[in-house]
Amino acid sequence: MQILRLDITGFPQAWLSPEQAAPYYATDSVCWTVGDVCTSLRGGMNSVTGRQSQIDLHPIIAVRGAAQVNLFDAVPSLTNAKLFKRDRYTCAYCGNVHLRGLTRDHIVPTSKGGLDVWQNVASACRGCNALKGSRLLQQAGMELLYTPYVPSVFEGFLLSGRHIRADVHEWLASRVSKTSRWYASTPLLN
Ligand SMILES: [Zn+2]
Repeated sequence: MQILRLDITGFPQAWLSPEQAAPYYATDSVCWTVGDVCTSLRGGMNSVTGRQSQIDLHPIIAVRGAAQVNLFDAVPSLTNAKLFKRDRYTCAYCGNVHLRGLTRDHIVPTSKGGLDVWQNVASACRGCNALKGSRLLQQAGMELLYTPYVPSVFEGFLLSGRHIRADVHEWLASRVSKTSRWYASTPLLN
C-alpha cells in the first residue's frame, strides 16, 4: 500500500510506505488527512501504560514543513513506465495496444536535435519504431495518432503510483486537467 504525502496546501510531494508515513504521525507533523484509516502500525511498549502503541494511518496525509515539489516548476520526471502509462500502452503510429515491448520513440530523433522531453516522446511498438528509424515523420511518411503532452504533477503521481487505492485515485484524478488522456479514458472520472 502507498500513502500519498501532500504539503499543507494539498500539493502532492511523494508516495510513502506505511513505515515511511509513521514518523510524521509520531512527530505530530500531520496537519490533515483524507479518507478513512487504511492501515495501522504497532509501535513500542509504553512504559507508563504498559500498552503497545499504535499508529492509525490514512491514505492521504498533509504534512507540515517546506514543500520539496513546487506547483510552478514541477514537471514529472520522464521514465518509460510513466510514458507508456500516459499513452495508455498504445503505439502512437499503428494504434495497437502493447502491454509489453513498447519503446520510447523520439518524434524528432535525437540525432536530428530532438530533446528527450515529454513533448517529444511517444510510445511506439518495435515494428513502428524500426520502420520510422531516425527519420522525421514527414520523411518516413508516418503520422502521430495522438499528441504528446507534459503531465501535470497530479497526473505524474497517478502515473508513478502502484496499486493506487480507489479513493486516492479519485482525489488525484479530480485534480488532473480535463485535457489529459487520463480524464478522457479513466472510468472513475465519469
Ligand atoms: Zn506500432
